[in-house]
Amino acid sequence: MNCRVCKKKAVIAIPRHNTAFCADCFDKYLMDQVRKTIKEFRMFEPGDRILLAVSGGKDSLALWEILKRLELDVLGYHLDLGISEYSKESTEKTRAFAEKRGYPLIIEEIESETGATLPVIAESTKRPPCSACGLSKRHLFNRAARQHGCQVLATGHNLDDEASRLLGNILHWQDGYLEKQSPSLPAEGGLIRKVKPLNRLTEKEMATYAYLKGIDYVIRECPMSADAKQIFYKKVLNDIEKESPGTKQFFYFGFLERLEKMFPPSSENAPPAGSCKVCQEPCYTDICSFCRLRMKLSPFPETQETAESSINFITPNTH
Ligand code: SF4
Ligand code: ZN
Repeated sequence: MNCRVCKKKAVIAIPRHNTAFCADCFDKYLMDQVRKTIKEFRMFEPGDRILLAVSGGKDSLALWEILKRLELDVLGYHLDLGISEYSKESTEKTRAFAEKRGYPLIIEEIESETGATLPVIAESTKRPPCSACGLSKRHLFNRAARQHGCQVLATGHNLDDEASRLLGNILHWQDGYLEKQSPSLPAEGGLIRKVKPLNRLTEKEMATYAYLKGIDYVIRECPMSADAKQIFYKKVLNDIEKESPGTKQFFYFGFLERLEKMFPPSSENAPPAGSCKVCQEPCYTDICSFCRLRMKLSPFPETQETAESSINFITPNTH
């Protein structure tokens, strides 16, 4: 198999584009895809400082390098979840990656913020681990962005992540999640802008990029992941893609084209109107979900009743 552009030996075939690339032409293709996404969805504005959520996996580390190659101002943020060896490895690989390249990085620990590791939080609150994790990340990412002067939060979700999430949301008609599936959500109600610049690139393309660039990333999956459905949806879409290349991209981008018509702005999807009485972060009620989670772990007598009576269990479908 040869590169369709320069005829050298190809390193990757991309059936949905009916093409194959050598290492150099693949690099150009990938960078073009990211540039196109950033431009089309108006992800960044001149002078933006970007907070990049870095897990230590291939997508976020690769995205970090890509954004730096595009000469953007990026600050890495890693949250140590305290999930035994998995978190140790994730934090170490993230730190080593940043140090080797001289990239600025903030590391915070969920245990310092809540008094407990993620497994302990899940156990003591009887909350699904991914729910507690998603809630904490949303809060801490937003806070870190504000504290460090960032206007936008970037995450490394790729096309497979977004298409499988879309499939799950449609199968269960999760309107609330569907309307938030744009790869570029504007800043509103004290929440910063959120973007996903890798949404045109597949899992395989990102793994190939990481391999070619010698990026040392965490390969194993998070052991707390109970989302077998998400993995199943990815498999279903990959099976369809094998039979009919391009379907995954058509499905996801077809949805994005219709998104605004399907969910016009309304009072039902209004942003948070106030701020949390405890931490001052944006909030829909008096006390934000993160503070209520913290209270549940370490109750304040006068607010415990409020916290428990109004606790709102959301199962996020994002990392
Ligand atoms: Fe958090 Fe993802 Fe692990 Fe769930 S699978 S606990 S969302 S890192
Ligand atoms: Zn709060």
